[in-house]
Amino acid sequence: MLNAFIYSAALNSVIDSVLSAIIIINEEHNIVSVLISRRNQSRLKYLIGKNFFRVLKTIFGEQNANTIFNSYKICSSSRQDVEIMRFAHNSRQGLPEYLYWRFSSLPDSGGYISIFIQNITENVLIEEEFTCITEQYETVNRDLCVAMTKLDFHLMDLEQTHKRLGALYRITSIVQKTVNEKEVLEEILNGINRELGFCNMAIFLFEEDSQELVIKGHRGYRDNLRIPLGQGVIGYAVSLRELVYVPDARLEPRYIKLHEDNVSEVAIPLIVDDKIIGVLDVETTRERVLQSYDLDFLRSLAGQIAITIAHAKHVAKVEKLAITDGLTGLYNYRYFRTLREQEFKRAVRYKRPLSQLMIDIDYFKNYNDAHGHLMGDEVLRMVAGILKRSCRDTDFVIRYGGEEFAVLLPETDLTEAYTIAEKIRLSIFTYSFPRKNTQPDDALTVSIGIAGYPDDAPSDIELTDHADAALYCAKRSTRNCVCIYQ
Ligand code: GH3
Ligand code: MG
Ligand code: MG
Repeated sequence: MLNAFIYSAALNSVIDSVLSAIIIINEEHNIVSVLISRRNQSRLKYLIGKNFFRVLKTIFGEQNANTIFNSYKICSSSRQDVEIMRFAHNSRQGLPEYLYWRFSSLPDSGGYISIFIQNITENVLIEEEFTCITEQYETVNRDLCVAMTKLDFHLMDLEQTHKRLGALYRITSIVQKTVNEKEVLEEILNGINRELGFCNMAIFLFEEDSQELVIKGHRGYRDNLRIPLGQGVIGYAVSLRELVYVPDARLEPRYIKLHEDNVSEVAIPLIVDDKIIGVLDVETTRERVLQSYDLDFLRSLAGQIAITIAHAKHVAKVEKLAITDGLTGLYNYRYFRTLREQEFKRAVRYKRPLSQLMIDIDYFKNYNDAHGHLMGDEVLRMVAGILKRSCRDTDFVIRYGGEEFAVLLPETDLTEAYTIAEKIRLSIFTYSFPRKNTQPDDALTVSIGIAGYPDDAPSDIELTDHADAALYCAKRSTRNCVCIYQ
């Protein structure tokens, strides 16, 4: 009883801070003392002398009472402390409640057992809440990690896109500085090499006449390469009208081998206004493998290349038109003056000979009057053809005016010029022009005057004037003849 009293005193000092109880049970399992915190102690007196198991049953129900009573019995038989760490039950209000039980045998008491009960509901709930918060935190943390990784990828993508745009801008801005097709192609190839680090690449342009793809610029391929439509990966890309990527060239039957160390190939058709104008082809080695962003980049670049090449072609066409005579396809008078000035300067600077022929069709009015202007035009075209064929690639044949032609002969002195003029005169004289029998002496002929630098022309204008004077001379003599300026 003394011990029970000491327990009671101890409990009183802590009892009001946490909900707890101390019960002392005698060897007949009857309650001999009860203390419960925050309760009117005098009211608890009715429990004294009651059977402990029955009281348990009333409060906790039979099953729970058994659990508690078993621990109590273990303690009383073993005389060791026994604990129930977290005893769960529903309170009378139906709320979950957690209790801590400790059964201790009271020494020197003749079998008395003290039972310490503490309500730990608050601790357990806090603990549960803490576990729940920790789990939530972990979930949020995991989501955050995933989001951060995604963000990293986005940033990498963004950086790649930024780099690609920069490279595209650099290539296209350089390319746009020139309209010369060859220079355009060179700049593109330099750009791809510099910006992407590829070493083997080529631009093929489609040739309408031969229906072939002709190499126009390359790094690491062969000059004069021609690939018929439909052949190779390049031809296949044209037929598909789509980018074709061959990751492993060894496995591709269409692949045409150009390099020993090639691993993969990508061919991208160059399309303008729905028309294929060529193909951009890149081959890669093991050191520089193609990545998916390379494909995207090359695709964008191909679009730019196609437009730039088309523009260069267009400019070249317009430029050609500006210097060409529409009827004969020869150079026109306007361009003749530029050519003459250039060639004259060159002849003077390098002290080289330069000759000019002035050619006029004899009695051409007569031909026109007899057969009409259209037939006359046809003859003009034929004469132009004969002149082109009679001259060298380095000579310039010009339609000077109506039925007059000029030929500039660089690196040619008067003697050589005379030979060429005679060859021309004879070719025309013997040519089967339609209805030439209506012309005097049954022949369509030309008269030719020649002047040359340095012999008889101190300036480019005088070169023409003197050739014209020589032509006049030829007209005044027999026509169908060649005269050198004197
Ligand atoms: P010649 O030179 O021998 O003195 O006599 P010609 O009859 O050729 O000379 P002329 O200068 O009198 O006549 C040149 C003719 O060339 C006038 C015109 O009918 C013809 N002609 C000039 N330009 C063209 C052209 O573009 N087409 C055609 N069909 N005829 C042209
Ligand atoms: Mg004339
Ligand atoms: Mg004439």
